[in-house]
Amino acid sequence: MSENIFLKIINKEIPADIVYEDDKVLAFNDISPQAPTHILIIPKKEIRKLHDSNEGDCELLGHLMLAAKKIMADKQIKHYRLVINNGSEAGQTVFHLHLHILAGRDFGWPPG
Ligand code: AMP
Repeated sequence: MSENIFLKIINKEIPADIVYEDDKVLAFNDISPQAPTHILIIPKKEIRKLHDSNEGDCELLGHLMLAAKKIMADKQIKHYRLVINNGSEAGQTVFHLHLHILAGRDFGWPPG
């Protein structure tokens, strides 16, 4: 069993409310939603945080973004915010790279 909770979700060792999956990424509803729509997209490759990625991950990172667009397009949602928290002081609590997709309410700027 992995210590990484998102790897456990990828490996189907624990359940998640999966909304999209392909060979490179998995997307599921956040367990503690901060907006009416709050989805996490994760690479199946283990990358602890964005800062640990490298040139070899270029296609995967692009795929992650395009998967976010596809999920929102399928839901016919045109206004949304994408967030990556990198490092604990930026709010990262799960150390497997993930892209938050938030939608369904107004968002302030600058972010908190
Ligand atoms: P971050 O703070 O950027 O690391 O985001 C981690 C996110 O993972 C939080 O929004 C949590 O609510 C979410 N989360 C943690 N465990 C689970 C889980 N088992 N299923 C779905 N979302 C989770």
